Amino acid sequence: MIKTSLLTLGLLTASVLSAASGNLEIYWIDAEGGAATLIVAPTGESVLVDTANRRDDDRDANRILAATKAAGLSKIDILVTTHYHGDHIGAMPALAKLIPIEHYMDHGPSVELDRPRVAALYKAYEDLSAGKRTMLKAGDKIPLGALDITVVQSAGESITSPLPGGGAANPTCSSFEPIAADTDPDNDQSVGFVLRFCDFTFLDLGDLTWNYEKGLVCPANMLGKIDLYQTTHHGLDRSNSPQILAVIEPVVAVFNNGARKGGPAAVFENLRATPRLEDIWQGHFATRTPKEINTAEQMIANLGDGADCEGNLLKAVVLPDGKFTLTNMRNGFSKSYQSK
Ligand SMILES: [Zn+2]
Ligand SMILES: [Zn+2]
Repeated sequence: MIKTSLLTLGLLTASVLSAASGNLEIYWIDAEGGAATLIVAPTGESVLVDTANRRDDDRDANRILAATKAAGLSKIDILVTTHYHGDHIGAMPALAKLIPIEHYMDHGPSVELDRPRVAALYKAYEDLSAGKRTMLKAGDKIPLGALDITVVQSAGESITSPLPGGGAANPTCSSFEPIAADTDPDNDQSVGFVLRFCDFTFLDLGDLTWNYEKGLVCPANMLGKIDLYQTTHHGLDRSNSPQILAVIEPVVAVFNNGARKGGPAAVFENLRATPRLEDIWQGHFATRTPKEINTAEQMIANLGDGADCEGNLLKAVVLPDGKFTLTNMRNGFSKSYQSK
């Protein structure tokens, strides 16, 4: 018995050590318009945000597994499911068979249980997460090594006191125009968080839409400035309002888009109008957007459209001094930035 415990402890230590690089790593897994973002803390603990699509061939589960292997992980410490749409939770049952998931975090019950497909996915989630589940509220912290991860949005509620660097009035709020309520209301229940590592900040708001983003940045900016921004809702223009972009002022934006999902011209234009932006990176070439509006090809992980897509990763490595480097795993192209 003692031998087994020591052996187990040894293996666990080895698994954390093999992933412990001293740097923060973020991987965007290509799920053809689904969401799956893997975050590995400098000390080797991991959080996976969303599990992409269910497929008969388990394509997305296998792509996520490949990313965990690339990161040197033998388990996922925390799975955060931003909301229960199929493109964010579909591969979860298949993935849970491939790699241990220690803890599950979410916004609380689905608000779309009248939809049979959502209800089935939610039931599978309840079964797998039983006894290992935390329902998050705005203001909660997600414990992951030495990282400071604050839940800024959950279950339709925003934080009410600003993060460090936030709190200033947002002068663009007077021009805010609401849009029609979302027909998929679970989007607006999305968990959103700001991750801080030393002076570096990363923002992921799931599929939160326009009207709900407003609570985070109007009348005052609760978020502060953001260095690395995963465009909300795959970069769709029902999210990413000018009011949020104007005050988070991302240095780098990453679209987790698909070939035909996310990345309309207006979102590129609104991002490029912000003062600190240096580059946009894309999971996919956006085929419905003119080539000259898409970012430079070297910063796009996947150019193909359809069954032949290789599912190349984008990767960010963040050093404690705030230098962060993005790499396109399709061609090895890298570029470094500094948190500001
Ligand atoms: Zn989505
Ligand atoms: Zn959604």
